[in-house]
Amino acid sequence: MANKSRAVRSDSVVVIGLGRFGGAVAESLIRLGHEVLGIDGNYEKVQEFSGLLTHVVQADTTNIETLRELGVTEFKRAVVGIGHNMEASVLTVLALEELGIPEIWAKAMTKNHGRILERTGAHHVIFPEAAMGERVAHLATGRMIDFIELEDGYAIAKTRTPEKFHGQTIAQAELRSR
Ligand code: ATP
Repeated sequence: MANKSRAVRSDSVVVIGLGRFGGAVAESLIRLGHEVLGIDGNYEKVQEFSGLLTHVVQADTTNIETLRELGVTEFKRAVVGIGHNMEASVLTVLALEELGIPEIWAKAMTKNHGRILERTGAHHVIFPEAAMGERVAHLATGRMIDFIELEDGYAIAKTRTPEKFHGQTIAQAELRSR
């Protein structure tokens, strides 16, 4: 159980819903050196992740008082990986917003789910399956070596340099004006 009075590092993250998505996020954060408080309502999930994350707690995250008790207010970042249970996803984001968490990331299953999450207080809404599908389409057509879509219509794409640009600087290649 997370201790309310324990000092939480400023780069710590609370990950709610340790399914395939939330679990992968939590484990990656640990590998990157962050402290992670994982919360899931399912006992088996809590067992699976105990020992892998800094703290793992079994709780229903739709209850704001439970989140307060767990010391979630001390975290600057929260990731909500609840997906199929849309009611639980929305209520959890709402509770985090009401607790004043500055950065809330939430997974959405559909566009409408995403719109509701944005209105409810999520600062970043992720569509993991749609994003991965687009990425694979770019990679499978062979034009891109890597493709990561960012928010607001921006993307990072890694592609091979056309031969005519070999040996030139970016300025010499005049990529922007072309
Ligand atoms: P994934 O595809 O990432 O495995 P999913 O989209 O199927 O997940 P869900 O099954 O809805 O999403 O939830 C993911 C996790 O969130 C599950 O481990 C589930 O136990 C947990 N969860 C769902 N509702 C709550 C809740 N109210 N409180 C805490 N955890 C919850």
